[in-house]
Amino acid sequence: MAESMACKKVLSWIKDRGIPSVDLYTDCSNFRALLVGDSLRFLTTLLLTFKSDENIHSSMEEANAVQDRDHKFLRRAVEEAYKAVECGHGGPFGAVVVCNDEVVVSCHNMVFNNTDPTAHAEVTAIREACKKLNRVNLSDCEIYASCEPCPMCFSAIQFSQMKRLVYGAKAEAAIAIGFGSDRIIADALRGTTFYQKANLEIKRADGNEAIIAEQVFENTKDKFPIHSK
Ligand SMILES: [Zn+2]
Repeated sequence: MAESMACKKVLSWIKDRGIPSVDLYTDCSNFRALLVGDSLRFLTTLLLTFKSDENIHSSMEEANAVQDRDHKFLRRAVEEAYKAVECGHGGPFGAVVVCNDEVVVSCHNMVFNNTDPTAHAEVTAIREACKKLNRVNLSDCEIYASCEPCPMCFSAIQFSQMKRLVYGAKAEAAIAIGFGSDRIIADALRGTTFYQKANLEIKRADGNEAIIAEQVFENTKDKFPIHSK
């Protein structure tokens, strides 16, 4: 039977300290130990400590897997943001709707293309996802947005009952190059109970992904002279 990490740690701990006359039988797969000797309580505590240590390890692995997954979909949203500018469809914003780990739709800002000020990436993605799935309830879906949603998009996300929102750049990065207006201040939205009590998990990307998402504005601002003043 393969020894688990916890068992290996216990055995090497005992060996390192030269603890005598302890027979240790372990069912490594279940982290159970039958101990013969005087050190029963001590070693049980030790084993439990190592077990929880291993739990921490597996929780960390789980968190890393979520992180990798989030990064993958967020990068797709960022690619869409660049596409919006390349195609001349709209501002540098992208959004991806995911259901059961599968991309349902991958969209970008279509404001110029549709001559529609409401055709933001998130609204477009929600419309397309509903059409594709043929339903108005997206409670089993997540949305990845290259940038923090504006109040209109945030409301649309709420109306679609999406369970999770992951975004890259902070709204301030978009506002800094002229997207959004003074009337739409991200802090004003964040401070509302509407936002705080929203029935969905809201996650802001961190590290490299946040930087990549914010760079979109710097890399595309020349395409929007009206916005780069
Ligand atoms: Zn929006």
